[in-house]
Amino acid sequence: MLSIAIDGPAGSGKSTVAKAIAEQLKITYLDTGAMYRMVTLNLLNNKTDMDDIKAVEEVLEQIKIEFRPNGLFLNDEDVTTEIRNNIVANHVSQVAAIGIVREKMVAMQREIAKGQAIIMDGRDIGTHVLQDASFKFFLNASVEERAKRRLKDFEAQGIEISLEELIADIQLRDEKDSSREISPLRQADDAILIDTTSMTINEVIQVIIEEIQS
Ligand code: C5P
Repeated sequence: MLSIAIDGPAGSGKSTVAKAIAEQLKITYLDTGAMYRMVTLNLLNNKTDMDDIKAVEEVLEQIKIEFRPNGLFLNDEDVTTEIRNNIVANHVSQVAAIGIVREKMVAMQREIAKGQAIIMDGRDIGTHVLQDASFKFFLNASVEERAKRRLKDFEAQGIEISLEELIADIQLRDEKDSSREISPLRQADDAILIDTTSMTINEVIQVIIEEIQS
């Protein structure tokens, strides 16, 4: 069964590329970052103390994460837009470093991957979640370019934020994601590295599709 792992830091183009490839190959796409974002939003909404493992565990026991055709649903509420906001982005790395959160998310991801062709994007897909993936790619780009891409996304939503602020936020998130103890952001030894800094999305998609079909 075809399985494709796409990892990389924030803003490297993973989600856009993975979604497009899923459409072209008619396979399932799973945005694992969205899952950590949903857990984060739930903890923020409940004002849960993120250092209190028992309290986090209670929230995890109740959580309902669904990928419906019309959006991403957290406990039956559409949170597709809300999980992309900067408050969630600035807390998600802390939440994603919690062992019980990762255990639950990875179990869900592997369950979804069972018995179907899939492309997943995240930070630990090639190194952990789908260690035996048919294809592994690691996307990267300069921090300035990644911040510029995020700035465009925010501008499209009418949200004001400076490029400098975004660079600082992304650098901090990269640092936290790369230095955590459990499944840190890392290129798998057998992953193909693609530097997307001066590539268009279509070029990145092309490189990946050619590799898969070769
Ligand atoms: O991909 P995205 O930027 O939406 O991911 C949000 C956050 O979720 C990352 O910064 C990281 O902390 C966490 N994450 C993770 N493992 C994954 C996917 C995302 O730790 N597989």
